[in-house]
Amino acid sequence: MGLFNLLFGQKGFTHGIHPPYHKDTADKPIRRLPFPPQLVLPLDQHIGKPAIPLVVKGQEVVRGEPIAKADGNFSVPLHAPATGRIAGIELMPTPKGPKTNAILIDVYEGSTQEVLWEQPRDMSELSPQEIIQAIQDSGMVGLGGAAFPSHMKLAIPEDKQVDTLIVNGCECEPYLTCDHRIMLEHPKALLRGIRYAMRATGTEKAIIGIEDNKMDAVELLKSHLSNGSPVEVKAVETKYPQGSEKMLIKSALDREVPTGGLPADVGVVVNNVGTLAGLGDLLPKGRGLIERVITVAGPGIAKPANYLVPLGTPIRYILDYVGYEGARTEFILGGPMMGPAVSALDTPITKGTSGLLVLNEPSIEDESHKIWPCIRCARCVSACPMHLNPSMLGQLAAKRKYEEMAEDYHLTDCFECGCCSYVCPSNIPLVQYFRIAKAINREQAA
Ligand code: SF4
Ligand code: SF4
Repeated sequence: MGLFNLLFGQKGFTHGIHPPYHKDTADKPIRRLPFPPQLVLPLDQHIGKPAIPLVVKGQEVVRGEPIAKADGNFSVPLHAPATGRIAGIELMPTPKGPKTNAILIDVYEGSTQEVLWEQPRDMSELSPQEIIQAIQDSGMVGLGGAAFPSHMKLAIPEDKQVDTLIVNGCECEPYLTCDHRIMLEHPKALLRGIRYAMRATGTEKAIIGIEDNKMDAVELLKSHLSNGSPVEVKAVETKYPQGSEKMLIKSALDREVPTGGLPADVGVVVNNVGTLAGLGDLLPKGRGLIERVITVAGPGIAKPANYLVPLGTPIRYILDYVGYEGARTEFILGGPMMGPAVSALDTPITKGTSGLLVLNEPSIEDESHKIWPCIRCARCVSACPMHLNPSMLGQLAAKRKYEEMAEDYHLTDCFECGCCSYVCPSNIPLVQYFRIAKAINREQAA
């Protein structure tokens, strides 16, 4: 148990790591990025079925207008982030890797920041089911990175009962500070979003869990709550991966999600602060998600800060705007622990992109980054928050015994946090092995 938990009598999760946090942009207010000349909007920027286009090449669209509809319940619509003309629907690179169909919008020069399409509604009139429908219509997904459709997450299955909404304000990944800024700059929208989510899920209590390196956000949110409020703000230990659902549930409520289970199995539903602040803003106005806050940072960035970015903005445009340098650079979308590295600078910012990091890529000749054999030091075992044996899993992966990894060593419990790779003195890319093994097992199961 960490010092924080001993001092404050809390039951945090065991294991985890303390990487350098580099939260240098935490004091930088959110700034709006201008529109790029062209926006690239992949139809599958969420988990679930891709959206179905509602527009054709040459059609004019206005800022906020729906341009693709949800394909059934496990899907969300897309809205135009800027006024312009549809340039086509083409295969384009995405943060997920392979190219997928995307709607391209040529943005009109001088396009207004005003949202020209909205359907305001009285939220006090809506039933829980109507709130869920309004959330799907907004196109909202988990903005923390998962991009899981928010209406699906907040629709509690009939055979489950939840009593607590946990609001995830941990932002435990190094560099990222966009959630921190949202809590500081949009506390009212966040608290509105929390109320809508509580009504939708029928929960009577909410806990906002925030790492204790953001005490200004803890104090500010507390100052917005009255005595007897069903919403509580709780500082939790700063430790990676505190922001993963299972870890935060353990820290905030001392409940453990069973192997293969979901938060609802222990009466909890978890949502990220950015997602709920977004819902608090969009739902009463009847608008769709067209922009998001991302942290742009890293040693190669000239103007690190938090930017409000139109969805679909290519990362090349952002890099040109903020300025970057470095001969050997690596571009990461999200945090450095779990975010994917991208090579194509045409890749757009999508709903699940929380950051753009420009890091110095290690040279392949650099001795300190060579991969060495496992020395059985067990550091990976001590770091794994899921209490797995990454060393053994790594050895099985090297022998391509993927099924055995899943059946005997609980590979499916691995949520790819990267703690094991981070501490390994032999630089064994354990988490990359596990991603490959899980993908192969998924393919075989399908
Ligand atoms: S990546 Fe998987 S195995 Fe490695 S520490 Fe995280 S949960 Fe454990
Ligand atoms: S940390 Fe690396 S070297 Fe140590 S036991 Fe784990 S895999 Fe082996």
